[in-house]
Amino acid sequence: MNKKFDIAKVCEKLSVIESDNDVFHFSKKNEKTPSVQRLKIIVDVLREIIFPGYFADEHLNRDNLSYYMGVNLDKVFQALSEEINRGLCFNCSSQNEQCTYCLDDCRDLTIQFLEKTSQIERNSKNRCTSFI
Ligand SMILES: [Zn+2]
Repeated sequence: MNKKFDIAKVCEKLSVIESDNDVFHFSKKNEKTPSVQRLKIIVDVLREIIFPGYFADEHLNRDNLSYYMGVNLDKVFQALSEEINRGLCFNCSSQNEQCTYCLDDCRDLTIQFLEKTSQIERNSKNRCTSFI
């Protein structure tokens, strides 16, 4: 069989919107969706925070550990709150270019999450034993 691929026909069928369903998402003005690539970076930095010295290139010691944690927590705070904001605004009804409702919520959620990282109990082999 030597069937011809009719791109225009397939494209036309895929572009038909029969009803308001969840398959399509039309972005609001300047809305950005969550980035899988940025979420991966956030997870990498969180690993450095939870298991200091195991995943980073920096030389850690007792003198620079607090600075190292602060820098990484700030990195995660900025990036994670942005990604949470994008996720919240994905479905919110605000038509404002800068949605203040989601902005407040994303900061609160990020703070709650990052405060919980300090509650992780590690055993002598640096394994997480609980995460409240
Ligand atoms: Zn919003």
